[in-house]
Amino acid sequence: MIADVPAILGAINSVMSMVKGIVSSTRDIKLKTLLIKVYDQLFMDKTCIDKMADEIKTLENKLDTINNWENEKDDYELIPLGAGNFAYRRRKEPDGGIEHDIHFCSNCFENKIKTVLNFTQFGRELIISCPKCNAKYKIMANRQ
Ligand SMILES: [Zn+2]
Repeated sequence: MIADVPAILGAINSVMSMVKGIVSSTRDIKLKTLLIKVYDQLFMDKTCIDKMADEIKTLENKLDTINNWENEKDDYELIPLGAGNFAYRRRKEPDGGIEHDIHFCSNCFENKIKTVLNFTQFGRELIISCPKCNAKYKIMANRQ
């Protein structure tokens, strides 16, 4: 459908050119007046089609972003950190992966943002926090 827009705009331009040619060659005032209204309407239709095509393109880009996230999201798993807290990490690949050991904030992840959790405090329990949303996650000391 969006691929047809240039052809539709081209057709409208052709009709506008024909209308313009008739307007400049006719001496019939009523016909000229009518054709100028037709020309103006075609111009408004063309502008409207242009705007709709832009909006469709914007929506297609948003849909691509959503679909890309859905695909990328499948590469991650939600894992328990302990004390009822969870974080995302990349699923382990057969060849192993560096990113597997990196934990991402589950709160940010649900908003389609991958934010690496940072260690902020050591004690009996390890506490890591999200630098973006300030969520804090306790990790039990005996966690594997
Ligand atoms: Zn966060």
